[in-house]
Amino acid sequence: MRKKIVAGNWKMHKNYKEGIDLIESCIRLFEKEKNKTTEIIFCTPFIHLHKASKLTDEHKHIHTGGQNCHWEEQGAFTGETSCAMLKSCGASFVIIGHSERRMYFNETHEQLAKKVDSALKHNLIPIFCCGEPLEIREANTHLELISKQIRESLFHLSKEQISKTVIAYEPVWAIGTGKTATTEQAQEMHAHIRKALAHQYDLETATNISILYGGSCKPSNAKELFSQPDVDGGLIGGAALVAEDFIAIANSF
Ligand code: PEP
Repeated sequence: MRKKIVAGNWKMHKNYKEGIDLIESCIRLFEKEKNKTTEIIFCTPFIHLHKASKLTDEHKHIHTGGQNCHWEEQGAFTGETSCAMLKSCGASFVIIGHSERRMYFNETHEQLAKKVDSALKHNLIPIFCCGEPLEIREANTHLELISKQIRESLFHLSKEQISKTVIAYEPVWAIGTGKTATTEQAQEMHAHIRKALAHQYDLETATNISILYGGSCKPSNAKELFSQPDVDGGLIGGAALVAEDFIAIANSF
């Protein structure tokens, strides 16, 4: 059975104290919910990760993750962080291929494939992001682009490996813009991704992979988005920075 997941992508926000306060508030609010059906993940900046993992350690449904990683084990890569380093700080997830990394840091399909490999090697679950810019959506070639993004960076994986990944569909035109994909647009793409997974692997494998939606997801639209049959949760940017909003989204199933 695939999991329901709500992951917060903090991006480059919150100093150390602010970040730890946010995690403590989220835990307090989330723990009020008795019947938890959702896994929540804090994808924090690296500086928070160790303490965040300590705070979430004893909470079965709460996890931490990085927002990026390097594919090499170690070496002269100033400013980079390896998967082994993330793991040693208690992370169990890592976001790979966020559109901001593709856009501002020119990350390629090939590099992302190597990051996915390294994450899996170190027992980190990759949250692999895909998504189309506005001009691609307007040209009506979005389904093809997403197929290409997942094919080039994920389809070299074995069935066992792909089963350990999470995919996040994040239309670039909806990230941080206040514009959300309609439930129909989200469902169409999620079903498309699942169909591609079933074609490459098999139906059972595809059925068990969680596919998250990201892009201006907030408490007011989460319920409707999460009610779609192929939407298994969300990757949340702005709303993950406010404890009440993030936990309201997590409780929206
Ligand atoms: C994101 O950056 O992953 C994201 C979904 O951002 P926002 O929720 O702010 O649109």
